[in-house]
Amino acid sequence: VKFIMKAKRRLPVLAIDLGGTKMIAAIISQPPKIVARDYSLTLADEGVEAVTGRIFSAIDRILNAQNITPSQLHGIAVAAAGAVDTERGLVTSSPNLPGWRDVPLRDMIKERYKVKTVVINDANAEALGEHQLGAGRGVDNLILVTVGTGIGGGIIINGRLYTGSSGSAGEVGHITIDVNGPRCSCGNIGCWEMFASGRAMAREAKARIRGGEKSILSEMVKGEIEEITTEKIDAAARQGDALALEVISRGATYLGIGMVSLVNAFNPEMIIVGGGVAKMGELLLEPARQVVRERAFKLASGAVRIVPAQLGDDGGVLGGAVFAYSLTAGSG
Ligand SMILES: [Zn+2]
Repeated sequence: VKFIMKAKRRLPVLAIDLGGTKMIAAIISQPPKIVARDYSLTLADEGVEAVTGRIFSAIDRILNAQNITPSQLHGIAVAAAGAVDTERGLVTSSPNLPGWRDVPLRDMIKERYKVKTVVINDANAEALGEHQLGAGRGVDNLILVTVGTGIGGGIIINGRLYTGSSGSAGEVGHITIDVNGPRCSCGNIGCWEMFASGRAMAREAKARIRGGEKSILSEMVKGEIEEITTEKIDAAARQGDALALEVISRGATYLGIGMVSLVNAFNPEMIIVGGGVAKMGELLLEPARQVVRERAFKLASGAVRIVPAQLGDDGGVLGGAVFAYSLTAGSG
């Protein structure tokens, strides 16, 4: 999305990153810069009404704390973890937000605060954020891949977010990697996120330890195998634990295998890797780069840089603000 430069000074955007676990609200001034943040838990299992109530509370809290009214905002942007129909302002479904089906989140917020509101998929927002403010500045063809519990994505082509014919482009986590693989929550079989996500790595580590293999992870969780997370696998790997290193290496190899398809299909200049699992850093990225070098078309693999995201946990809110500012006044 290109900025339309205007002489008029713009009001701040209130942006919300709505995740399955936590929610971040932020006040972002133009040029996009965070001036205040509010963190809270989503408690997604409590359902749509409870969660939308908490979104309203987060908005109210940050407005009060900053002593501003909704009329002093350029708009409200929500980056939501799920399939979003931006055109109609709906969260259509979400594996991270149980019960959410065609929830008219944009209009619910707009009616309450009487301010322009936009809703966008969180990974698409992050792609916009990284493109304008992060690792992808000046790069007009890039793909953002978020590796967290699942795998999300956002595609920037010729400097603009590519959303596809019905707005759902960028769901790269659901590229089929193994036709005989496990069934995914999306209904497909053998999706990329079943092999390269944080959940996939944790599942692999748990299965191997339950199968009798030795690892310091067992002591780290005091025998509570269910408690194994990617953060713990990362910590164990850094202490030289062979099983943890193998689990990460396998996940990273699969991460690279999915990237081969992206590189061959899109020939991007850059793939930016964000999300919680990306905090593993080079342990994750270098094997993935290796796979891309070995397997993708030479012309494409020679052109692509695979780099970590720069905006961290702020990527969703910053990208949401970039999106809100990119829209002309009066739309949404
Ligand atoms: Zn899937």
